[in-house]
Amino acid sequence: MKISLPGANTAIPIGKLLCIGRNYARHAEEMQSDVPDEPMVFLKPASAVIRSGDAVVLPNRSRDVHHEVELVAVIGTGGTGISREEALDHVAAYAVGLDMTARDIQSRAKERGHPWSVAKGFDTFAPLGPLTPADQVGDVQDLTVSLRVNGKTRQEATTQDMIFPVAELIHSCSQIFTLAPGDLIYTGTPDGVGPVSAGDVLEATATGCAPLRVEVEAGRQEE
Ligand code: MN
Repeated sequence: MKISLPGANTAIPIGKLLCIGRNYARHAEEMQSDVPDEPMVFLKPASAVIRSGDAVVLPNRSRDVHHEVELVAVIGTGGTGISREEALDHVAAYAVGLDMTARDIQSRAKERGHPWSVAKGFDTFAPLGPLTPADQVGDVQDLTVSLRVNGKTRQEATTQDMIFPVAELIHSCSQIFTLAPGDLIYTGTPDGVGPVSAGDVLEATATGCAPLRVEVEAGRQEE
């Protein structure tokens, strides 16, 4: 899938999805996880991305798929070893996104010390809202991120409560991974995560960003 960065004439492929775990203390608490002392990063494949209006498809091999609403930073200018001071200059746009998670598969992986790639990486597990140019979003550490399921608010939090602010995430990730235009950083979910069912309508918002709306569909039976 391709995305058009603000001000660019041509669409570019979505790059890597760097996702941050446990970036809000109350979510770490609800998962009975420790608060990390450095950003906890995992990757999702770009093939998991869908856009507003598309459907999240529930995989048959999970019985417990959860929503995690997150602010997403879309990288416009790449780099390695990016300083905290310049980090936000590398963001072309922000969007609201969902880090869909097969919680049952993730729990088994945690028990066994296995990676989270399957639990987090199914097709359709990375809904991405419309991109809003970064300079139209205001103070990224003072946004309200929220999710309604069938019209009822399930998650709502301020980005003031991030353990590692967006600039720190970009600084930290760029020490490990060279960032490139089209990379997405899913900045972590606040508390209130929970299961979704076929037929649910998920509506996510972040202050200043255009909203994201997806429906949940049952998966086809595996052969
Ligand atoms: Mn997440």
